Amino acid sequence: MNCCDDYGDCRQGRDCPVRQVKLIQYNTGWTRLDNFLSAVAYGIAIIGAISLVFTISWLGWFLWRIYVPA
Ligand SMILES: [Zn+2]
Repeated sequence: MNCCDDYGDCRQGRDCPVRQVKLIQYNTGWTRLDNFLSAVAYGIAIIGAISLVFTISWLGWFLWRIYVPA
């Protein structure tokens, strides 16, 4: 760990333990799976926000139809 500076740059080269751990995580696909799950959660949050806006605007239209005479 001492071979790396505060910015994550390594002076040691190929034998850096930090760099090997990053390589293992990338090869096992866990990083990509994590990114995929984050994207799914992000999409669900966006869909939830959109349906919330639709529900509020529908409710406003509904109340407007009830209380405002045509
Ligand atoms: Zn290092």
